[in-house]
Amino acid sequence: MIIGLDDTDSVDGMCTTYIGTLIVEAIRDLDRNLIREPPKLLRLNPNNPYKTRGNGAVSIRITDNSNPEILEKIKSISFDIIANYSESGDNTNPAIVFLEDNSITPEIQLFAKRALHEMLSIDEAISLLNKIGADYNFIGNGRGLIGALASCALELEDFTYELIVYRSHYKRGIKFVTEEGAIDIEKKYSPRIFSSYDFENQRMVISPHSDCPILYGLRGEAVDILLEASKLIQSEKPFKKNLFITNQGTDMHLEKKSIEEVMPYSSVIVRGVVSKNPYTVSGGHVFFEISDSKKILCAAYEPTKGFRNIIRKLSKGDEIVAYGGVLETEHGLTINLEKIEILKLAELYKTEKPICPVCNNQMKSIGKEKGYRCKKCHTKNREISTTPISRDINTGLYEVPMCAKRHLSKPLLRYGREKKFEEERFKFDYTMFDIKFEGI
Ligand code: ATP
Repeated sequence: MIIGLDDTDSVDGMCTTYIGTLIVEAIRDLDRNLIREPPKLLRLNPNNPYKTRGNGAVSIRITDNSNPEILEKIKSISFDIIANYSESGDNTNPAIVFLEDNSITPEIQLFAKRALHEMLSIDEAISLLNKIGADYNFIGNGRGLIGALASCALELEDFTYELIVYRSHYKRGIKFVTEEGAIDIEKKYSPRIFSSYDFENQRMVISPHSDCPILYGLRGEAVDILLEASKLIQSEKPFKKNLFITNQGTDMHLEKKSIEEVMPYSSVIVRGVVSKNPYTVSGGHVFFEISDSKKILCAAYEPTKGFRNIIRKLSKGDEIVAYGGVLETEHGLTINLEKIEILKLAELYKTEKPICPVCNNQMKSIGKEKGYRCKKCHTKNREISTTPISRDINTGLYEVPMCAKRHLSKPLLRYGREKKFEEERFKFDYTMFDIKFEGI
C-alpha cells in the first residue's frame, strides 16, 4: 500500500513532511519493518497559485500488505494524525489517500506527471480515486487530494535525498541554526550536497525562515554523506529527523516547447532569438523578448540578484534557450527564468561618422543617406564607419543564484551527476534510520 498526503500546512506553520514523519513513526510503532524505504517528498507544479511554499506532497510505501487488520489500523492512525496536526484555514485543505500497489493505472501515472506541468482539478483526482476503489479522506474542499494522489504515482528517473531536521511543532519563533555549518558543508561537500550556502549573496539556504517545524534540510546525492555533514551544523536542540527521497534538483518540471505551445502554469525549455533588448523596470525586474515564429517575454525578477546582470548583457539577435515557469502577467505570458543557455552571440557593431582621410577630422553628415563631408577640406565619403563591439559575455549555461532557486531546479553543478531511482532505491535500509533525535 502507498499512503499519499498533502496540504496540511499553512503560512502560519506546520509542514507536510513533518506530519508524514509523525505517520511513519506511528506505523513503525506497530512494526518497524512495515516501511523499508524512505518516504518521498515530491515537488509538484511550482507555478501552482494554491501552494503554501514549495508545493510539496509526501508519500509513504508500506512494504507488508498481507494483514488487512494492520492495513486498516494504519489507515485510521494516519488519518487521525492528519486531523489532529494539520493547520486549518481557507487555503489549507488536508487530504490523505491509500492506494494498493497494483492499483496505479497508466491513467493515474499520467495524472501524477501532469501535476508537475499543469493545473489539475479536484474532481479529476476524486474520479480517479473512485475508479480504482481507493480509500481516501480529506478536510476542507479536497484540494489536497490532487497532490496526495500524484505523490503516490509519480515515477522518478533522476532523484536526490533530503535529510530534514525538525524542532517540535509547538516551538515557534526565531530558529537557532548557525551559518558556519552551512558554509563548511558547501565548501566540503558541494556538489554531492547542494544548495546549502549561497556565497554570492552570503545567505544560508538550508533553514526556512517560515514558522514551520523544519530547522534545516540538507539536499544531496547519498545518505551517508548527508548524515556525516549534518554533524557540522550547530543548532538549537533538534526534536526529530527524517530522510526523504525527492525530485528536488532534477528539473523534472521542465518540458521542451516551441513558443506557440507554451501554456500558463507550465515550466518550459524554449529556444529562441532575442527580439527585444533587455530593459529594467521599477523594482529591478529585467525583461526581454525572444522569438521563434512567435514571441514571448522572459523575466529575471529582482530576487534573482546577480543573474540579472547576465541578462542585461543579452542583445537582439542572440540565440538562447530559456528555462523557467510560465505565468500570465499584465504583459502576456512570461517565462520566469531559472536558467538560460546562450547558444550564439550576435555580432554587434558600433557605427561612427567616418574620419577624413586627408585631414583626420571627423566628417559631418550632409543629409539623410547623402553621406559625409569634411568641414575643412570638403572631402566626401558615403560610407559610415563600423567597428565590432566586444561582447562582455560568453556562450554557455547561466543559472539564478542559490537563494532564488526553485526546489525542482537542477543546479548546474548536478549536471552529469544524475542518479537512476530504480537502480538505487533499495541501497539504503530505511528500517535502520532513527527518527527520534539522539544526536546525528
Ligand atoms: P509545503 O511545500 O510547505 O508543504 P505547499 O507549498 O506544498 O506547502 P500546499 O499547502 O500543499 O502547499 O498546497 C498546495 C495545494 O495545491 C495542495 O492542495 C495540492 O493538492 C494542490 N496541487 C498540487 N499540485 C497541483 C496541480 N498541479 N494542480 C492543482 N492543484 C495542485
